[in-house]
Amino acid sequence: MEFEDLYQEVILDHYRHPRNFGSTVAQCIRVEHDNPVCGDHIALMLVMNSDGILEDIKFEGAGCAISMASASMMTEAVKDKSADDVLAMIQKILQSLRGEIASDFLDEHGDLSALKGVVKFPVRVKCATLAWHALKDAISLKK
Ligand code: ZN
Repeated sequence: MEFEDLYQEVILDHYRHPRNFGSTVAQCIRVEHDNPVCGDHIALMLVMNSDGILEDIKFEGAGCAISMASASMMTEAVKDKSADDVLAMIQKILQSLRGEIASDFLDEHGDLSALKGVVKFPVRVKCATLAWHALKDAISLKK
């Protein structure tokens, strides 16, 4: 697999047209995370209702295509799901991206399967996991 293959069309599409990009309503949990190795920065804004459902999620930031595409894909994958389900999902996503479990798990989540290639490039794993760590923190703050 060549490095260029990392940048599949679906990743570039999320990078160029990030979903759920921008600020959300005032009543949100906001966390910021950095990946100094690559210079990626993300601010995640989460609205969780009293039933523990992720009602709204948005992000802002700047960084490489992998970090921004991962954040964009994440917002689509977790919206309207329960915090408990999402926390379990985050755990498996992080393990998949680190190569600790089979990356087949990513195939069950649509566009996220495009991130499978990251497993072969350890230096990019932090780019791909950045948004997921931010979301885990955001949920933990609320719970
Ligand atoms: Zn990066």
